[in-house]
Amino acid sequence: MLARGLLWSGAAFLLSQLPARDSLLVLNYHRIGNPEEDLFDPGVFSATAEEFSDQIAYLKCRASPVTLEEALAFIGGTLKERARRCRVLITFDDGYLDNYAVAYPILRSHGVQGVFFLATGMVGSCQVPWWDQIAYLVKTARKRAFSLSYPADLAVDIDRKGLAESLQAILKLYKKPENADPARFIRELTEQARGEDPPATLRRFLSWDEAREMIRGGMAIGSHTHSHQVLSQLEPEGQLEELSRSRAILKERLGIEADALAYPVGAKASFTGQTQALARDAGYRAAFSFYGGTNLPGKTRPYDVNRIGIGHQGWSRFRVQAAVCRFTGKYWP
Ligand SMILES: [Zn+2]
Repeated sequence: MLARGLLWSGAAFLLSQLPARDSLLVLNYHRIGNPEEDLFDPGVFSATAEEFSDQIAYLKCRASPVTLEEALAFIGGTLKERARRCRVLITFDDGYLDNYAVAYPILRSHGVQGVFFLATGMVGSCQVPWWDQIAYLVKTARKRAFSLSYPADLAVDIDRKGLAESLQAILKLYKKPENADPARFIRELTEQARGEDPPATLRRFLSWDEAREMIRGGMAIGSHTHSHQVLSQLEPEGQLEELSRSRAILKERLGIEADALAYPVGAKASFTGQTQALARDAGYRAAFSFYGGTNLPGKTRPYDVNRIGIGHQGWSRFRVQAAVCRFTGKYWP
C-alpha cells in the first residue's frame, strides 16, 4: 500500500507539472463528516472534514478554483480570457446542516467559493429523506435476518452479508422503477427489520439565516428543486412547478436570482430534453447533472453540465484523478 501510495504520489506530481487543459471540472459533494458517528445513510458522506480541507488545499495549489459566475461564463462561452487552466467548481447538493457547520468554514478559510444547491422544501427542516430513513431503519434493526417482498423479493441477512452490503441491496430495491408505492416499501421494511424511527426533532438541513450568512461569506446558492423529486418521473407541468417554485422561494428568502440548478439524482435518466427546456424557461442559466467527466470549451451543454461525485476514494487516488483531469481534460474514474 505504501509503494502504491508513493507511485500514485509520483504520478500525481509529474502530471501536475504538465500544462493544464483548458477545461471546467465540477466536483460534487453531499455531506462532510464521519459516517461512523451517524445512523443515517453513509453513502451520502463525501469526505471527512480533514479530507475535505486537504482536497481544497490541493486543488488551490494544482488547479484553479473558480466562482459560479466564472463557471457560468465558461459554460456560456462568454469567458474573455483564453488561458489553459483547469477550472474547478466546488458544489454541494441537498443543503445538509454540515454544509454550513463544517464545509463552509473550511471553504472560507481557503478563500474558495462553494455552490450550495438547496431543495427549498427541505431548508431548515428535520426531514429525513428516504435514503436516510432506510439507512436508519437498517442500522437500528432488531431483527438481523428478514425478507422483503415489494417491489421484488429480497432476502436480507445483516450479520452474514454485513451492514454496508445489506443496506446497498435495500436501497437498490427501493430505487427500482417498479416501486410505485414508496410508503408501502418503508412500511414493510419497518415491520420486517423492526428498526427505530429516526428522531423527528433533529434539524438536519441548513436554515435560511445560515444560507444568508454563507452568501455574505462569499458562497453561492443554487436550486435543487423544491421537493427533490426525480424530474423525469413528473409531468411537464409538475416539473415546471418544481423549478419555478424553488427559484421564486430563493428570491423571496435570500433576495437572489438563482442562476444555476442541480437536477435531483442527476443521472442521465433523471431528466429529459424537455426538462432542460423547462429549466431554461424557468430562468436558470445552467443546470448540472451528476455523471460524465470534465467540461471542455465549446462542447459544454448549458443544461447538462457534467459533474463528478466525490466519495471516499482516498488521498492518493484523489490527487491522481485531479491531476489526470487537469492535464487531459478527461475524468479517470
Ligand atoms: Zn440531492
